Amino acid sequence: CQEVVLVGRSNVGKSTLMRELTGHSKFTTGKKPGVTRQPNHFDWSGEKFMFTDLPGFGFMSGVEEHRREEIKTDIVRYLESNADDILAGVLVVDGKSVVDIIDRHSGPDEIPHDVEMFHFLRELGVPVVVAVNKMDKVDDKDERLDELCDRLGLMPPWKQWSDVIAPICAKRGSIDPLYESLQTYFHEQKRDDLL
Ligand code: GDP
Repeated sequence: CQEVVLVGRSNVGKSTLMRELTGHSKFTTGKKPGVTRQPNHFDWSGEKFMFTDLPGFGFMSGVEEHRREEIKTDIVRYLESNADDILAGVLVVDGKSVVDIIDRHSGPDEIPHDVEMFHFLRELGVPVVVAVNKMDKVDDKDERLDELCDRLGLMPPWKQWSDVIAPICAKRGSIDPLYESLQTYFHEQKRDDLL
């Protein structure tokens, strides 16, 4: 069974997006960050794969430092041992704050969590789609997405990276760019299956 993993900091809208993707309305959002220890598996009707919602990494308010490290270690272990079966990784970020957060945490001995996760997944050979959520709160969309590309080491303009950068608004259900990006990997997979 092919798998798509969702990763991202707490409060970026991961649960909201997951609900949109899976069409299940029973999942509650705004749950206490960092409490989901086990990956959650869901089936997506019509397709033979599942979405795995990994717990939020990085800053989690009210969660102790050592617990945060444990959660991060869990995520890394999970990804390392399942990389071969993972069709794509969706890195969910908050379009409104992601560039500021990355810049605030960039330094000689600090790599921002989002940038680290982006490169980590790619090193594992997992294609990454960055779901840039909350675009409804972003005024200068092109400029913001270009900045994000720059921080991820992708040469702007962002439109050149439309299968990597997917601007969305999960709350309003506007997630077509994410579907389109993911489709490219589903099709590649189907083609691989035929060969
Ligand atoms: P999680 O911690 O990453 O699972 O985040 P949640 O799904 O619980 O969402 C955190 C907050 O962001 C909630 O208040 C959501 O309503 C809000 N949110 C989610 N998606 C969007 C969006 O596309 N736009 C805006 N403005 N808010 C959103």
